[in-house]
Amino acid sequence: MIKVDRRRINKLNLPEISEGAVVYWMSREQRVRDNWGLLHARELAGSTRPLIVVFCLVPSFLGANLRQYDFMLKGLQQVERDLRGLGYDFALLSGQPDQTLPDFVRKVRAGIVVTDFDPLRIKQQWQVNIGQKLNVPLLEVDGHNVVPARFVTDKREYGARTIRPKIQKLLPEFLEEFPELLPASQKGEGFPMVDWDQVRNSLEVDESIGPVDLASGEAAAHAALNEFVEHGLGDYAEKRNDPNAEATSRLSAYYHFGQLAPQRAALTVASRPAGDSVDSYLEELIIRRELSDNFCLHTPNYDSLDSAPEWALKTLAEHSADRRDYIYSYDEFEQARTHSALWNAAQSQMVRSGFMHGYMRMYWAKKILEWSASAEEALRITIALNDRFELDGRDPNGYVGALWSIGGVHDRGWKKRPVFGSIRYMNERGCRRKFDVDAYVRKWG
Ligand code: FAD
Repeated sequence: MIKVDRRRINKLNLPEISEGAVVYWMSREQRVRDNWGLLHARELAGSTRPLIVVFCLVPSFLGANLRQYDFMLKGLQQVERDLRGLGYDFALLSGQPDQTLPDFVRKVRAGIVVTDFDPLRIKQQWQVNIGQKLNVPLLEVDGHNVVPARFVTDKREYGARTIRPKIQKLLPEFLEEFPELLPASQKGEGFPMVDWDQVRNSLEVDESIGPVDLASGEAAAHAALNEFVEHGLGDYAEKRNDPNAEATSRLSAYYHFGQLAPQRAALTVASRPAGDSVDSYLEELIIRRELSDNFCLHTPNYDSLDSAPEWALKTLAEHSADRRDYIYSYDEFEQARTHSALWNAAQSQMVRSGFMHGYMRMYWAKKILEWSASAEEALRITIALNDRFELDGRDPNGYVGALWSIGGVHDRGWKKRPVFGSIRYMNERGCRRKFDVDAYVRKWG
């Protein structure tokens, strides 16, 4: 029997459940297994209601290009295949969800709609608009955070040290095994198979940033998790900050597109013998990642420097007129035309592979602060480049990573320096102490 913890569920509008199908509006969690939203929809369907899964494909989304769309569509194609294998209907709607979904819900005479939790502004706005247009309930289920973001705390946390004890206290209750998704009990409406070639041809996105070499979909995500846990996890604590070792999991794109449940990864990692690597991975995967969702949920302007803490804004203002040794434009950064071979190598790693190593992302963003006309401009350029080239871009982790690097979010003041003030500083000398910079430049430069 499926029973999803009620603390994961949030009702977004007033109507009560009525007769008819259950619609699961898949959005952030693009997978069939280990998906609390889909499981709750199945729980509501019980033995009497049909369950229809629908995905709304917007023709353009926050500047996403072919790189990100290609990865997502390949994953969704597998979602459709797996759902149909279990007897469920799958429909792909084209257009803004708040324009298309309410009509669809009426057409299929649904009695309730379930969707995924997502703290990004556009997703929250869609949910508000749709909730108002529906005369059936709209439920949001948090399938991204191990401890649900709305439950763990009701405020923006100061940093990892304040959210950590709250998450850790609740982990024993929430880090539970997922129930299996049962096959459909009721025959659906028989929606036709999606014509994926036609969908691809109808995209209106920038095709100059092409797909990257990372297999997409739930099966590939599970294979990558197992490969990492078997062969990479042991070295994680020691080598995770060495970009040449490539010792991190590289699972971020799978988490971002919801092809892999972070909770599945946490269960798998936690089942390995205890040690520094297990602790260190769970710290990143649970505490740091869920801190990002917490920030975006409670900070509507999560991509603006205005959301930086007061001490950081003060110190940046005090140093705004400091002389910059170099100032580059967006285009110079994008084309990796700075004086630094190391910075250029990091930028090329991201452009070519769709993935920059985590340690380099910090160095890379801090140098954009150092070499831009202002901190506001630096943040704008960092987010624009990150979201254009990273496969895992447009994620709470990205906005928070940029603001941590440039705006001191979730950090504290350090020794004062020109331009940075007391924002934490990084330089190439520090990188050389940590890893073989020349080898990295040879590989990516
Ligand atoms: P691993 O080291 O294997 O970590 C496992 C998982 O833990 C990651 O997949 C991620 O979900 C989480 N995690 C790791 N580091 C962090 C962190 N610092 N903050 C929050 N969660 C973390 N992450 C994104 O998912 N999307 C982004 O667009 C993004 N942009 C970033 C931009 C900047 C400037 C910075 C400083 C960080 C950014 N990060 C982003 C966070 C982090 O760098 C990446 O999640 C990580 O490098 C992904 O590689 P991995 O999966 O191999 O990580």
